[in-house]
Amino acid sequence: MRLLLLAPPGAGKGTQARRLAQYYGIEDISTGALLRREVAGGTALGREATRYLDCGDLVPDELMLDMVVEAVTEADRKGGFVLDGYPRNLAQAEAAQQLARTHGIGIDGVVLLEVGQDELRRRLLRRGAGAESRSDDNIETIRHRLEVFESETRPLVAYFAARDLLIAVDGEQPVEQVTEDIVDRLAGRAVRP
Ligand code: AMP
Repeated sequence: MRLLLLAPPGAGKGTQARRLAQYYGIEDISTGALLRREVAGGTALGREATRYLDCGDLVPDELMLDMVVEAVTEADRKGGFVLDGYPRNLAQAEAAQQLARTHGIGIDGVVLLEVGQDELRRRLLRRGAGAESRSDDNIETIRHRLEVFESETRPLVAYFAARDLLIAVDGEQPVEQVTEDIVDRLAGRAVRP
């Protein structure tokens, strides 16, 4: 199974990626987590990326590509992946399609988690106050990350719907129900062996 996960910050991307990876026995690749690891490790990429992460802007596309190609091709060899956090804009969507073509990787679906703006803000602020707090979970950055999603990432909904890849599910349901809906919808599609 090869999946892309598309969702605004706070919609439960990380949680659903973990659950889907476990369910299908595939790799969970989070570009946000990969970037945070680069920052923590003080690598050249991490040093470049940190200022974008801290203010909630997208890291420039050209810094993302190598990292994504490496993670995705390796996971593909092991049997599949759920890619959480990429693509985030149209240029990255084109790059992802190109990458899939070049490496013969067929995407089985693009999962969209739909959660209303008020609920997203509530969840992000709750996370910011909790043990899993991240440097970008403060009110200013949250507002900006939600704006970036609407302006940069939201157009991908139509992009993938036009390619008959979009699976939109209600992300405000209990966690288990969200996973079940995704699995049911994927089972209803013609999935490659
Ligand atoms: P996330 O953990 O998915 O919420 O991502 C956290 C931050 O990592 C984002 O606010 C961006 O700064 C950066 N990031 C993650 N994925 C991407 C991507 N595909 N393109 C650019 N920046 C990204």
